[in-house]
Amino acid sequence: MDPATPRWHRVTRAIAAARPEGPGAPLNAPPVPASAFRAGGAVDYARKASPTATALEEALAALDGGQAVAFGSGMGAISATVRALTPSAGRVVAPWDAYLGTRALLADLEADERLAWTRVEQADTAATLAALEGADVLWIETPTNPLMAVADVPALVAGAQERGVRVVVDATFPTPLRLRPLEQGADVVVHSVTKLIAGHSDLLAGAAIAADEEVAEALRVRRRLDGAVLEPQSAWLALRGLRTLGVRLDRAEASAMALAERLADHPAVQRVRYPGLASHPGHDRHARQAEGPGTMVSFELADGAAADRVLASLGLIAHATSLGGVESTIERRGAQPGEDHLPAGLLRLSVGCEALEDLWADLAAALDRADAGAREGS
Ligand SMILES: *Cc1c(COP(=O)(O)O)cnc(C)c1O
Repeated sequence: MDPATPRWHRVTRAIAAARPEGPGAPLNAPPVPASAFRAGGAVDYARKASPTATALEEALAALDGGQAVAFGSGMGAISATVRALTPSAGRVVAPWDAYLGTRALLADLEADERLAWTRVEQADTAATLAALEGADVLWIETPTNPLMAVADVPALVAGAQERGVRVVVDATFPTPLRLRPLEQGADVVVHSVTKLIAGHSDLLAGAAIAADEEVAEALRVRRRLDGAVLEPQSAWLALRGLRTLGVRLDRAEASAMALAERLADHPAVQRVRYPGLASHPGHDRHARQAEGPGTMVSFELADGAAADRVLASLGLIAHATSLGGVESTIERRGAQPGEDHLPAGLLRLSVGCEALEDLWADLAAALDRADAGAREGS
């Protein structure tokens, strides 16, 4: 029985894939803490490959298709992918509002004249396609973190293929259970496994999954040379997290949808950015290409001070960076260095698996208090 069998739903594959087989085998691939292995086997040194990371790679490949290469963080995967696919002095087309680390990496490589970065508004398909002439790589992140701009993946892939441009999709927000970039023709999909896939805010991990073996091998070379390897303990926990991704995602996404609707009705909230809302400009596009609106909700208050008052008065929802854990977290991204392009009053909420009504009670009380505080202050 091949656990990667495509006749199973992805949620089943997330549970069934990469389990040791045979009589007496443990049900779970155990963590193997070893740097070196006795000579003559398939693996000799853990910077090249190690069994626990390989198990995670098998499971991720069973979901996304293609060849998975695990890294020590999402940025490890992103850095390796950008450099493996971009020739010296090549050109990358990527959203101006991509994830902070991706922007910092592209700007850094640009400053070194390693590559040129053409910044695009990826939701504008015509403008993005126009920028592809003579480019080497199209980088998509959909929806973007945290402005939630939705790219038209099939249209951009078709346009990139016509022009011989490689396509990478950062699918950290949708996860392999909600978006299928390789099936839609992308060359590589990257995930910050740290986030929803691992799901418990207790490790760093990343993965790049390549449609073809040649690209996968180039990624493995980068990983080996950069030493961006995934530790066995983190690989083991990430695989454990992946087993429950389906149920965590279903629950958190249903809550995110309900919270987005309620936030949109709250007088202190000026704008909600969530692809599940019909008011989102990318709503129809996202619904066509993805299988759910996701667990991330960005919303805007009048200004940074109002947003900070909300953060200070939340009890259950943790004021913390990062996202995708079972516990809900919230952050004012504009307060992070390098994020001053964001609206000052924007809060990015990562919805977890707590009871919806507890989350809403916490948010509603904090919004009401922030509102009252503003009236007192004025
Ligand atoms: C967090 C994140 C990353 C980076 O992943 P790390 O595991 O923190 O290195 C990349 N892309 C997106 C969309 C992210 O949210």
